[in-house]
Amino acid sequence: MSVDATQPYDDGNIFARLLRGEIPSRRVYEDEHVVVFHDIAPWAPTHLLAVPRGRYVSWDDFSANASDTEIAAFTRAIGKVARDAGLVETGYRLIANAGRDSHQEVPHLHVHIMAGRPLGPMLV
Ligand code: IMP
Repeated sequence: MSVDATQPYDDGNIFARLLRGEIPSRRVYEDEHVVVFHDIAPWAPTHLLAVPRGRYVSWDDFSANASDTEIAAFTRAIGKVARDAGLVETGYRLIANAGRDSHQEVPHLHVHIMAGRPLGPMLV
């Protein structure tokens, strides 16, 4: 099922629950504003998800409503994880799905960080 972007933030969504510690995650980074953890069904040898702690559904929501501090922290965390995980030399891909047509499944903003094999052109 994909997300209906017209719906308000859902406090029961799986990443909200994960951030509250109600379900486990394999975290590689966290700070006051951001958590980065392994995707449960990886599409690549490295497949991480960067999630802001705030209640944002999509990039458009986040960019309009998050503070400059949260936006800076999120951006910097993704870059730090890419560097610290050794992804810079071989490369990596960032994807943030938003809304129905993107097939976003979890209604909490997340950026996929994928690497570890040639990922090919973006065809889907
Ligand atoms: P979306 O399609 O961009 O919303 O991506 C959601 C991602 O969340 C998918 O890649 C799922 O594999 C991943 N996912 C769903 N539940 C969990 C979980 O409990 N832990 C880690 N990743 C999850």
